Amino acid sequence: MLARVTTPTMSSYFTNLHEQNDVNILCNKNVEGLSLKGNINQLHCDDDTVYEADIIIVGVGVRVNTELAKMANIEIDNGLKVNEFGATATKNIYAIGDCSNHFNPHYGRFIRLESVQNAVDQAKCVAQAICGQPVPYNTIPWFWSDQFDIKLQMVGLSEGFTDVVVRKEHTDKFSLWYFNGSQLLAVDAVNNAKDYVVATKTIKNGLVVDKTTLGDHSTAVQFL
Ligand SMILES: Cc1cc2nc3c(=O)[nH]c(=O)nc-3n(C[C@H](O)[C@H](O)[C@H](O)COP(=O)(O)OP(=O)(O)OC[C@H]3O[C@@H](n4cnc5c(N)ncnc54)[C@H](O)[C@@H]3O)c2cc1C
Repeated sequence: MLARVTTPTMSSYFTNLHEQNDVNILCNKNVEGLSLKGNINQLHCDDDTVYEADIIIVGVGVRVNTELAKMANIEIDNGLKVNEFGATATKNIYAIGDCSNHFNPHYGRFIRLESVQNAVDQAKCVAQAICGQPVPYNTIPWFWSDQFDIKLQMVGLSEGFTDVVVRKEHTDKFSLWYFNGSQLLAVDAVNNAKDYVVATKTIKNGLVVDKTTLGDHSTAVQFL
């Protein structure tokens, strides 16, 4: 559950939330096919289980369509590979949004993101480059998700974290702070806009958080 974008603690939290709301979540199931038995939809899994449903929603993600780019000899590596200005290695060809694997100076590596914020901000960056006023795309990714009455806000990318500090006010209001050593990589905040805002400023400005007091939600986040 949410394994691609968050960590086991958050996955368990949202699994429990859905189960408390009478949703059954079945993981590690591979869907092999759909069929109709009379008027009833049937969904077939590769472990020979069959489920019946009034409505089936297929949400299986996307794969970048690179055919056109390949024909134009543009470098492909998990999408169209672009530098921090959105430019491919091919003159005058830029790529933005879901299809672009961009160099992110903040994380020092290539990243492909699927979010509205990324598509909109990269568009501005590429427009500036085309107009001869290049500014590197150095954004910190952020995401949100509303599930039942719970708001999850995420800033940064937690990949490569070495330790996590939990700031918990109560079961449905907490935040997880992901570090690589002393560097704050990302924060997932549940019903906690205040921690999300502080985390965003911390990551953007490269501030160093005092981990020894961070776990105490009654104390404001301290910096070293
Ligand atoms: C169900 C769903 C829910 C989502 N929810 C969220 C959310 O809550 N928050 C969030 O931030 N993001 C969300 N996203 C992701 C977000 O929609 C995408 O990240 C965003 O739309 C990417 O913008 P884009 O311009 O890169 O690509 P797209 O919006 O996919 O636009 C690409 C366009 O190019 C067109 N195209 C493709 N090939 C060609 C061609 N050869 N010639 C001409 N046109 C072509 C396509 O038809 C399409 O119109 C969601 C996505 C899905 C599918």
